Amino acid sequence: MYPDERRILMTPGPVVFNMETLKHMLSTAHEHTSPDFAQIHGEATRKFRRVIGMRGDLPVFLLPGSGTLAFEAAMVNLLKPGSRVLVVSYGFFGDRWVTVSELVGHSPARLSSPPGERVPLHEVEEELSKGYDAMVITHVETSTGVRANVEELGKLARKHDTLFVVDGVSSIAAELMNCSDWGVDVVITASQKALEVPPGIGVLALCSEKAFSAMQENERHVRSFYMRLTEWFKVMKAYEEGRIAYHATPATHLVLALERSLEKILREGMENRHRRHAVLARAVREGVRGMGLAVVAHEEVAASTITAVYLPAGIDPGELRGAVRARNVVLAMPIHPALRGRSIRIGHMGAVNQNDVVAALAALERALRVMGAKVELGSGLRAAQEVLLGEGL
Ligand code: PMP
Repeated sequence: MYPDERRILMTPGPVVFNMETLKHMLSTAHEHTSPDFAQIHGEATRKFRRVIGMRGDLPVFLLPGSGTLAFEAAMVNLLKPGSRVLVVSYGFFGDRWVTVSELVGHSPARLSSPPGERVPLHEVEEELSKGYDAMVITHVETSTGVRANVEELGKLARKHDTLFVVDGVSSIAAELMNCSDWGVDVVITASQKALEVPPGIGVLALCSEKAFSAMQENERHVRSFYMRLTEWFKVMKAYEEGRIAYHATPATHLVLALERSLEKILREGMENRHRRHAVLARAVREGVRGMGLAVVAHEEVAASTITAVYLPAGIDPGELRGAVRARNVVLAMPIHPALRGRSIRIGHMGAVNQNDVVAALAALERALRVMGAKVELGSGLRAAQEVLLGEGL
């Protein structure tokens, strides 16, 4: 077997990082109070707006922390205690936002769907008409591989004058997002997923005037020093203007990597990027079906960044993951309570290419065979190869 370096991570983040990006972190001397850093930070936030289709110059925050911090910061800063928050949950992360909302003193309600499905739009509309201050949706639910219809939900949010918060942790930079056109008020994401940067930056974008005003109007209710966005705003603004300001130390070297990674992402082109992820996701789905396995997400709602797969009876996910890992491919364990013990997840966000998909499916076929599952070697690969070939890859 080959040493660790050549392992293929097919996980929902951290992903395999590009060397060009990582090299930008190798600077030994780069402080957050230098004009150079201000300039690079400003570039990173400007580029990020292009990735999510955000017009104008409303703030993008790069917060030292993870996606959960970015989400909690949005909740704490934009909504006062007691706010009514509708969480449309497709699984584990949707449910987490109910917990966060409760903990920070809101009054959340949840609409849930069975694993692999969305909550029907008419149910969302019916609930919204009862009057909510905010609606939260997970763009790609990482526990099930379901993608939300953000554009349609945005229309409902606008119709009912509800602040629309989108968790784009597992989607941004791989799935299409047009926050300004779609009526999205807030987008949050994290560095370690399709942005292809090591963990450590939580990104929060206030995409609308409505979100920006909410931050300002709610300032006196914010009972957090670190997460105080009105203070971070001064820093983000200063950096965009090439000036220095301080609230807490930014993740300097990760910001260098992020700026470089965004450059690479925009060079690939957003349309090409969305298409690449969609094609690879289809190859993965057809591949596992070719092996006789079922995909958790219904085909019409399946995400381009992650695929959850049901396992044959008697195959333990932990053992399978171990057997696949021994073949230098890393898959992810199930986290949805209803899918634990009987499914596995294949991540394909970030710098994944067709060879990674083929290698991962091949390792999965062999591992399943070793564990006694009835899988014909090559059956999944053949199906995946047909998809790739059909797309000219
Ligand atoms: N939302 C989604 C959809 C996620 O997949 C994750 C992480 N897997 C999170 C939120 C939480 O992000 P973090 O782990 O960076 O805090």
